[in-house]
Amino acid sequence: MNPDFVAYNIRQDVQDMHAYAVQDAAGMVKLDAMENPHRLPAELQAALGERLGAVALNRYPDGRVDDLRRALAAHAGMPEGFDIMLGNGSDELISLLALACAKPAGGQAASVLAPVPGFVMYAMSAQLQGLDFHGVPLTADFELDETAMLAAIAQHRPTLTYLAYPNNPTANLWDAAVIEKIIVAVGEQGGLVVMDEAYQPFASQSYIDRLARHSHVLLMRTLSKFGLAGVRLGYMMGPKALIAEVDKVRPPYNISVLNCECALFALGYQDVFAAQAQDIRTQRTVILAALTPLPGVKAYPSDANMILVRVPDAAKTFEGMRLRKVLVKNVSKMHPLLANCLRLTVGTATENEAMLAALLESL
Ligand SMILES: *Cc1c(COP(=O)(O)O)cnc(C)c1O
Repeated sequence: MNPDFVAYNIRQDVQDMHAYAVQDAAGMVKLDAMENPHRLPAELQAALGERLGAVALNRYPDGRVDDLRRALAAHAGMPEGFDIMLGNGSDELISLLALACAKPAGGQAASVLAPVPGFVMYAMSAQLQGLDFHGVPLTADFELDETAMLAAIAQHRPTLTYLAYPNNPTANLWDAAVIEKIIVAVGEQGGLVVMDEAYQPFASQSYIDRLARHSHVLLMRTLSKFGLAGVRLGYMMGPKALIAEVDKVRPPYNISVLNCECALFALGYQDVFAAQAQDIRTQRTVILAALTPLPGVKAYPSDANMILVRVPDAAKTFEGMRLRKVLVKNVSKMHPLLANCLRLTVGTATENEAMLAALLESL
């Protein structure tokens, strides 16, 4: 059979694109994907097993999903009059937003705007739904370029504007006053703003208290960085009527009964996860203190469970660390502003010691 046969009917732009890359981490200290390094304590693992064993796997997901929606809304402190929808990870919500906003050919083209470097799914979801993507470069120190952002909003009138708060991979929170100006400008053009708070458990600020000020702002979060990356559970809050529209394009039963029950279980032990997040924030301080005095190394401030660091030769350091069995992310080719940058996920004290030793030996 012609090996190209299966590709015949696949869209050319899909054939030309790269799949989301997941690095092989077998046998490595895995510090490449902002996972929480802590597992559930043994007694909770046993209790969860029992609870999952009792779930009716023969039935489609039912009203239990609404219990989870309520529990997450309470966890986040969702304002009155708002609603919440769930996704199979926030990646699914990002795809659903593009799907809900994509306009059929002929009309005014829909578009997505986001600062770059940023989370790759914003551009990927746009491309896959045929929306234009406009990336607006951050400043050299990774702040929002207010002038460039406002000019791009006026020029492109974006349907969706993403602001990751804090941003990935730069790990910083942007200026609240500049964010407010961007939100107002997008609103005046009739667009939506999505505040993506994937790293909220480690951040000193959240947009949640300001959410009720605007009717065109959505707030997205996930349980992935909280400590349940394997469960796949993202959520998005916004004005009721707006959430109702986006929810129409959600596939039925998108949250498995196992994801749902696991998330409900975890929310019953929020103190355990809060203690893990506190440990990660403490470890972040330890890593930053070790990196800051190193000559030729620049570590950037972080409000997330990752640290962006610029080294003299990122390819050499990444490879040296890999040979020493420490896997981080080489983001130096993602964007010119990230030249020679590595992204380090904060791990346990032991993992971080191994990571710092490997980095020092690989500079
Ligand atoms: C990790 C991440 C997400 C996606 O997380 P899910 O695992 O799909 O919930 C969303 N936004 C940003 C900025 C991220 O870094």
